[in-house]
Amino acid sequence: MTAYDNFKFTIDSDGIALAVFDVPGRSMNTLTASVLAEITAIAERVKTEAAIKGLVITSGKTTGFCAGADIGEMEGNAGSTVALTEDEKLKKQFDSAFAFNRVLRGLETCGKPVAAAINGLALGGGLEVTLACHYRVVGDNPRIQLGLPEAKIGLLPGAGGTQRLPRLVGAANALPLLLEGKPSTPSEALKLGFVHAVVPTGSEVTSAKEWIRTKGDPTAPWDKKDFRIPGGTPHQQGGGGQVFVLGNAMLRKNTYGNYPAQLAIMKCVYEGIQLPIDAALRVESRYFAQLSNHPTARNMMRSMFLSMQELGKGARRPKDEPPTDVKKVAVIGAGMMGAGIAYVQALAGIETVLLDTTIEAAQKGKAYSEGLIAKQVERGKLARDRAEATLALIKPTVDYADVKGADLVVEAVFENREIKANVTKQAEAQLSATAIFGSNTSTLPITGLAEASERPENFIGIHFFSPVDKMGLVELILGKQTSPRALAVAIDYVKKIRKTPIVVNDSRGFYTSRCFGTYVGEGQEMLAEGIAPAIIDNVGRMTGMPRGPLELSDDVGLDLGYKVREQTKKDLGDRYVAGPADALYEALVVKHGRYGRKNLKGFYDYPAAKGPKTLWPGLLDLVGVKVTEAEPPVVDELKKRFLYRQAVEAARCFAEGVVTDPRDADVGAILGWGFAPWTGGPISLIDTVGLAKFVKECDRMAQAYGPRFAPPQLLRDMAAAGETFYGKWKAAQKAA
Ligand code: NAD
Repeated sequence: MTAYDNFKFTIDSDGIALAVFDVPGRSMNTLTASVLAEITAIAERVKTEAAIKGLVITSGKTTGFCAGADIGEMEGNAGSTVALTEDEKLKKQFDSAFAFNRVLRGLETCGKPVAAAINGLALGGGLEVTLACHYRVVGDNPRIQLGLPEAKIGLLPGAGGTQRLPRLVGAANALPLLLEGKPSTPSEALKLGFVHAVVPTGSEVTSAKEWIRTKGDPTAPWDKKDFRIPGGTPHQQGGGGQVFVLGNAMLRKNTYGNYPAQLAIMKCVYEGIQLPIDAALRVESRYFAQLSNHPTARNMMRSMFLSMQELGKGARRPKDEPPTDVKKVAVIGAGMMGAGIAYVQALAGIETVLLDTTIEAAQKGKAYSEGLIAKQVERGKLARDRAEATLALIKPTVDYADVKGADLVVEAVFENREIKANVTKQAEAQLSATAIFGSNTSTLPITGLAEASERPENFIGIHFFSPVDKMGLVELILGKQTSPRALAVAIDYVKKIRKTPIVVNDSRGFYTSRCFGTYVGEGQEMLAEGIAPAIIDNVGRMTGMPRGPLELSDDVGLDLGYKVREQTKKDLGDRYVAGPADALYEALVVKHGRYGRKNLKGFYDYPAAKGPKTLWPGLLDLVGVKVTEAEPPVVDELKKRFLYRQAVEAARCFAEGVVTDPRDADVGAILGWGFAPWTGGPISLIDTVGLAKFVKECDRMAQAYGPRFAPPQLLRDMAAAGETFYGKWKAAQKAA
């Protein structure tokens, strides 16, 4: 009997073969070149051995069925094509993409029935393997994710996903799944029709074998003569074209043409479903090859997959520090942030003390978790007993004695130095000498806050983003005296609450708030120049930012923006440089009482009930509008200003040592303030534009709009040396 490295292969007394997918030494199955070679070998064997009646594929991992292609291997392959011409690169990418399709098509046409017993998550290539099986049965567990998330990292499902899924569920149902990459639960997949049965967990293999014994059809629907695509195809069967007419408009609205993957998916499905499957798979491989050479895909893959994964696993953790595990954490300040932090902690099983100045405020903070958990129970995502146990972990209090025994404190009181200092002292009086104190301040330098501490080496910035339960990033800020152990504890904590940590050095606004502020600031500069507010917000969104700068200012609160300005003025004294928006903010907040979305009055007027917001007409009296039309050259220039302004600030953060690792800068930007994900982050953007060209453009814009665009010396030096951020960083990693 042949042995395989990645599959345990047995044949039962009925002649049904079972291939248990279990990549050795890995916690999760991924599709590598060696796995694909073995799938081919297995398909060949099933085809040729008369004693084998059919094949069931399942997973030997408790973590899932298969997480998809090995992105690290893919990135490695792509990286090694640098010396090739564009045509050679394309050909190489096509060959490797089509090889994948050939393997799965071989399985699908092996002449014997093949069933997938899906006993855990099946994503990307993992799901595509199952789509090439003739039957799919999945365990009844709502936590199992079945999906094709490639579009989220700038790729398309390139192992038949763009062809088999629409053939199973119709283009109208398949397109949202392909374009958005959102996974389905087993019951959703059953309803849509891309799995055949949902069975009690543990009985997947039995059920798959039963199908082979009793029905065992060895032909895919699309290989049958009378096959029709559900919902029809464009031009050939009525109705099918409409989906694409509307789909194209929606695509434009959602992506502004920034995402080549989504466009390629649309084309792939449109063209592919009009062709026989073998030709369709070639079409898919061609689009896949084009995409994988595209800088957008390369940058998104790196930042949104590889770097995110590396940081999540603790790439920035001091190596010599032994692992830590916080069991009890006190959250001080049960407001918007504290309440959210308590919730994510409890979900991670951490005993949580939630302290505020009144018991009502502390209880209100806990009520936030009660609300969110009740919703999860309602939706069947959390069992009632687990929900109760989770809530029991949060203790609302006003008594500092409850802080005793905490391994970590997260302070989230008002953004006020005196209050924070007071809280630090009171908490430390209860803490052991080894406990860590983290401040969730969004702007106040950590070194200064640590002055209130007896143990500044245990003091660190732990900056969450709002809403805490949805935002995946935590920015860790090192004060001058923060110890490696404090950082290790903070990283282990962030990992425990399943978020991604980045590590930055101390400075006003740290990294994320500082760079994010430049986006909003650039919008205000444009407003002061007389560009119509509608153009400013529309162009902001067109760059790929999730919202326009004026909308965002309203969300954050114009009063907050005003207060931060006043505080900065006070702190900097004579060094404060007044901006064009200072007078505007004062007029909006002080004179007109416009605080933003919170009082339904900001740059926009918000209806009290549901409904669209509209720009406040009075704004036009405060700013003289000169530009009311934006033709493409104007739009392109405004887009560039938005993106380059943020990117040059990120480069400055590098030059000043606020960020030291390009992964922190890019992942922090995308997860922290929604920096246009298609770029892979501001540092990837600079590398992709090219340092020399970026510097030249920044010099031009500094002349035209002001010194805020002036590139730091670091960029000039790197440009002169022909360096890139990632190239330089990789070389440094190798040398270390
Ligand atoms: P918030 O006003 O909603 O909550 C602050 C809470 O702290 C209130 O419940 C208040 O009663 C409590 N508090 C005040 N003084 C206290 C004291 N002496 N002891 C105990 N509790 C006290 O504010 P928030 O938005 O949750 O912000 C809290 C902190 O988080 C601030 O430092 C803020 O800069 C930072 N932050 C805010 C955001 C955001 O988007 N709101 C994002 C990141 C960080």
